[in-house]
Amino acid sequence: MSTPTDTQRMEKIVSLCKRRGFIFQSSEIYGGLNGAWDYGPLGVELKRNLKNYWWRVMVHERDDVVGMDGAILTHPAVLKASGHVEGFSDPMVDCRLTGKRFRADQIPRQSGTIFKYEFAREAAPVDRALQALAHLAETDAEPKFNKTRITSSDALDLAKRIVERRKLSISLPKADPEAIELFFSHLGDLLRQHPRSQWEEEFASAYSVPQRTICKDAFSVLVGPGESESKAKKTARAFYQKRGLKLPVVVPLPPADELKETQKFNPENGAELTPPRPFNLMFKTNVGAMEDESSVAYLRPETAQSIFVQFKNILEVARKKLPFGIAQIGKAFRNEINPRNFTFRSREFEQMELEYFCRPEQGMELLEYWKEERLKFYENIGLSRANLHLLNVPDEERAFYSKGTYDIEYDFPFGRQELEGVAYRTDYDLSQHQKASGKSLEYFDEETKERFIPHVVEPSAGVDRTVLAMICEAYAEDQAPNDKGEMEGRTFLRFHPRMAPIKCAIFPLLRNKEPLVAKAKQIRDLLRPHMFVFYDESGAIGRRYRRQDEIGTPFCVTVDFETLGEKQSDLRDTVTLRERDSMKQERVKISDLLGLLLLRIG
Ligand code: ATP
Repeated sequence: MSTPTDTQRMEKIVSLCKRRGFIFQSSEIYGGLNGAWDYGPLGVELKRNLKNYWWRVMVHERDDVVGMDGAILTHPAVLKASGHVEGFSDPMVDCRLTGKRFRADQIPRQSGTIFKYEFAREAAPVDRALQALAHLAETDAEPKFNKTRITSSDALDLAKRIVERRKLSISLPKADPEAIELFFSHLGDLLRQHPRSQWEEEFASAYSVPQRTICKDAFSVLVGPGESESKAKKTARAFYQKRGLKLPVVVPLPPADELKETQKFNPENGAELTPPRPFNLMFKTNVGAMEDESSVAYLRPETAQSIFVQFKNILEVARKKLPFGIAQIGKAFRNEINPRNFTFRSREFEQMELEYFCRPEQGMELLEYWKEERLKFYENIGLSRANLHLLNVPDEERAFYSKGTYDIEYDFPFGRQELEGVAYRTDYDLSQHQKASGKSLEYFDEETKERFIPHVVEPSAGVDRTVLAMICEAYAEDQAPNDKGEMEGRTFLRFHPRMAPIKCAIFPLLRNKEPLVAKAKQIRDLLRPHMFVFYDESGAIGRRYRRQDEIGTPFCVTVDFETLGEKQSDLRDTVTLRERDSMKQERVKISDLLGLLLLRIG
């Protein structure tokens, strides 16, 4: 199922991310590297807050999970055993006109009329015919054609002279190749009937169909309902032009068919796509100085495999009993055919994965358990339940070894898309590695004295996708009073305080009043060991609030003359605490500030 898309909202989000230093295109000054992104000063904070919270909830707050941090460079044997070398591919198709590559299963389904073309032939006169035309156009008054430089673009000019001089009753064609072909064929016939030299016959025979170039490739075009055949013809001509014809006359194959829900045509131009072929998504590299098959390694396409491969080592050192899990956060690499939707589908990204090992009979129950835990997690980082959806992946779409998989999806502005997969992977991975390595990966149950390969449930989340979901969820616009009390548009990010890059901004009301500045700096130093704070003394207070709103800082503290106790002594050492979303302000004692903020951040 998909949701309506909101392109405008997404454009605003991408622009805010760049403007305020959340996310930049990688290698931007060199034109950008497709599928790679760099996180700026605020983006890195947001990302760290997410990873730290995941680690806290998934590892530190549990007795049954330990962490690890595996290498990115991976031995090919690992990925052979896991099935990635053979099977980690997406079906790829190319547009036969532009060469643009698509993932076959992601092409939107389209309906319309298909126009098929059997082949195309050249309507522009070939060199021999051009030479003949040049001779025929030559007069005593104009003998100066340089016959070695005539190109097909001169052909119509030459023909015009001939038609005018010989007063032939034939009208000059417009630009389309069919009319041009008809014109030159007709001209050849007329000239042949009244020869004055050998050039009339020479032209007619050189322009005959067998003498002209033919492109034998068949091609077809889909045009949408209500669109005309001329659109298909134009696309087909472009196709044959790419194959070397200057003025292709396209030869249709009747009849035109109606197609429904097809994925065989480029959605951008209607051109036919090549048949799908598998494209392995792994990045291959060579380790060491030799560049041959013996030095091949891969950049890991998921963090999970190093967990499986280290299962035995970790089991021994962690002294855990089933069920227990191993968690990892780290980079993964996939040479995606179409990186798109900002950071959503990148070629380099981070994953947060837990492999939770269990007895076979616990698998299905733990799948349900982890699905619920993970939904709770997303709510706890500020994603609203209304925007989160659970997809129970049907049998035919699940990996063959999985007995159950849920996709946790999120309503992004570009549609409903996967945020995390929670999969019951049975004992597939450990069995494969045991078989391929010849090393036992069995678990010995002290109580039952059984030896078996544990099953595993895997919640696998994407850091970058979750960061993007948090930004999309947070993006908001409303009206707020400016320094003069007039209402104006405000853009702000409603991050959950737990995730916000900066937790609290601290302002002295005036930058040139030393006691205010000193007090504000004291507060900064008081809070700094506990949270990321930002001190700002430049510009009007309203402007400073607005800058913080736009980057999602949930709290601002202002030190004013009341803080100094100048007007009312009972307000001494109190500050204004302003909340981002409601813009409400309250008076808080400096001594209560840290506790209050920690409580509200969570
Ligand atoms: P998709 O179907 O979107 O390609 P997937 O089902 O192949 O994703 P998994 O192999 O289950 O993804 O990976 C687990 C998680 O890793 C995904 O839910 C997603 O959050 C993240 N992820 C996978 N591929 C990418 C990518 N190209 N860019 C960013 N994150 C990704």
